[in-house]
Amino acid sequence: MGFILDDLVLSGVVIVRTGGTLGHDPGCRLGHADSPYETDLVGSFAFRLQVLAFACNRHPCAYSVSPRISRIRFPLHPHLLADDAICPYLPSDDVWRWGRNTVADFLDFASIWLAKHCVWESTGACNGGRWIGVAASHAVADLLHVVGRNDQCPCGSGRKYKRCHREQHISAFRNQRDSGQEVRGRYMNQAKARMALRGSG
Ligand SMILES: [Zn+2]
Repeated sequence: MGFILDDLVLSGVVIVRTGGTLGHDPGCRLGHADSPYETDLVGSFAFRLQVLAFACNRHPCAYSVSPRISRIRFPLHPHLLADDAICPYLPSDDVWRWGRNTVADFLDFASIWLAKHCVWESTGACNGGRWIGVAASHAVADLLHVVGRNDQCPCGSGRKYKRCHREQHISAFRNQRDSGQEVRGRYMNQAKARMALRGSG
């Protein structure tokens, strides 16, 4: 398992087998000799997902029903959407699209998300456990920073961000800022700069 964790951290290839188990890519060329990951960090887990696929230009949505992964159980979850759908990637990453990809491809990403979730939970979800791999969180300040106006909205509606949740995120961002809640500093200034540009354009 340590090798797979390495692969996830370094965005390497992870093989998703039938049934949803993850495997190390036999063709992997990463040097794993000094893998820092404890091999007993993640054992074997089973999940039951509810998956919704849509005929229109939306990506599928997946919910973990067993175990239940929700905002109520994990208020600090970095990668759950507002309705508790898991978010295996931002639509702006352009890794999945109807016509090019299938629901099975989406489930590959979902399996990898579940592995990352296991690590996050076992490394202390309630005190900011570790989310492995490169991914921005779904805090509104982060979304404003990483999702372009014309990208698909992260909610999966298939609409452009500017025509869907962007205004709502901007007001949420302003409310957070005005009420003095902590917003991660490194995105705060960038998000402010984007809003300033938008105001003047
Ligand atoms: Zn939206």
